[in-house]
Amino acid sequence: MEEDLIKSLCGIVGEENVKSDIVDRYCYSMDASLYSSIPDVVVFPQTTDHVSEIMKFANTNGIPVTPRGAATGLCGGAVPLKGGIVIDLSKMNKILEIDLDNFCVRVEPGVIQNELNQVLNKRGFFFPPTPGSKKMCTIGGMISTNAGGMTAVKYGVTRNFVLGLKVVLASGEVLELGGKTLKRSLGLDLLQLFVGTEGTLGIITEALLRIIPLPEETAVIVAPFKDVYEATKTVNSVLSRTVPAAIEIMDRGIIKAVNAYIKELKLPEVEAILYFEVDGTREEVQRQIEIIVETCKKHKSLNVQWTADPEKKLMLWQGREAAGGAIMNLDRRLVRVYEAEDVCVPISKIPDMVKRFQEISKKYGIPVGLYGHAGDGNIHSGVLIDVRNPEEWRKLKNLTREVYETAMSLGGNISAEHGIGALRAEWMRRIHGEGLKYIKKIKEAFDPKGILNPGKLGM
Ligand SMILES: Cc1cc2nc3c(=O)[nH]c(=O)nc-3n(C[C@H](O)[C@H](O)[C@H](O)COP(=O)(O)OP(=O)(O)OC[C@H]3O[C@@H](n4cnc5c(N)ncnc54)[C@H](O)[C@@H]3O)c2cc1C
Repeated sequence: MEEDLIKSLCGIVGEENVKSDIVDRYCYSMDASLYSSIPDVVVFPQTTDHVSEIMKFANTNGIPVTPRGAATGLCGGAVPLKGGIVIDLSKMNKILEIDLDNFCVRVEPGVIQNELNQVLNKRGFFFPPTPGSKKMCTIGGMISTNAGGMTAVKYGVTRNFVLGLKVVLASGEVLELGGKTLKRSLGLDLLQLFVGTEGTLGIITEALLRIIPLPEETAVIVAPFKDVYEATKTVNSVLSRTVPAAIEIMDRGIIKAVNAYIKELKLPEVEAILYFEVDGTREEVQRQIEIIVETCKKHKSLNVQWTADPEKKLMLWQGREAAGGAIMNLDRRLVRVYEAEDVCVPISKIPDMVKRFQEISKKYGIPVGLYGHAGDGNIHSGVLIDVRNPEEWRKLKNLTREVYETAMSLGGNISAEHGIGALRAEWMRRIHGEGLKYIKKIKEAFDPKGILNPGKLGM
């Protein structure tokens, strides 16, 4: 069967676009999570027709298919849990059309977020959703996880910028959804159904995205706090007066880790630091700076700094940008594991979530640094354990359960932007309740043989 499989795929995309060597296959067995599973073959289509032919073949033969962008996903979404075919979309990476009259851009799914913005910026425009992985992640991956990032506070998440999609279904049928209009009221919205479904319903081979003009000016404000709860309350106070492009937070653990990582940075070793980015016209930016500085001072921030100077801005952001990479410096003997890393709560509940998270970390003796997109109530965590110790894994499971239950009891959810994948699959019933029955019927309608990304989203 394996030989037939490879021969048939070579017939569709050419021998040079099929990898079946064990070393190659091993390289495609992982994403940025802890999951791994080796596919039988990796294939690199270059057109929608290629993807359609691959799907027809896989469907006829009941072969599992896992779509893959850049594999920066943090929950095992692009890991081929059941083997079969990995469809790597990185060679479908063309910007097909830039339509500045209608404020949109048509791209293939393998286009990298940052590369798209480099092209758009030269024309005075940008595509706002900006995950921390922007230099690696693809548009197809972003749509499939409904990626967020720092600027979601003001601009929204990927879903808000998807105007149209070309999607190949499990049967190989191609659907073209949406279009260049900014509004539609047409009943059931199939277009949005494909956003955030992690390649379980179809493979995106083209996307039409909304773009907007670059702001005239941006500025950064950094505010350290002696009290983490006061910092989180500041987020609420700021948002009741203005909407910055980004509001980020780092707690004491992350600050320490960043200082150990970049020695010359010397961030103040306080309980929390808030980072704000504001943008707009010069006057708007000035006014937002005034509001934020005033509000931070009211909440007893120590020494608020701000700048609109491009170079100084990079310097001020450096601490927050380093947070993800710095976490291992919290304790060099331990390893960071991506668990309980993406909860989201209503804005007013951030102080409660942060407080409970710190208590749970203490209870299990597992070091946790908290950071993330405070302006959306989205708290990321760097959780460190001794991965060689089975007892640590058991404690981690309990910590994760308590963190998720806390988020849900506060009216929040267990993943704001990273997704479900394999990592949170067992939580689907808890999250969706009776709704899961209908979700499974939708899956059955699009993929009756269950060949698309099996094992993800609890399906
Ligand atoms: C350092 C770092 C920082 C990060 N920061 C953020 C952040 O700030 N915000 C955020 O939201 N995420 C963040 N992430 C997570 C991740 O980068 C995003 O989820 C991103 O959108 C994944 O894109 P990708 O191209 O790597 O997709 P992959 O990991 O390859 O795939 C993700 C999912 O999408 C499916 N998929 C991929 N392409 C297609 C397609 N064309 N059609 C159908 N399904 C497809 C896959 O099967 C998988 O289920 C971060 C990750 C890292 C490593």
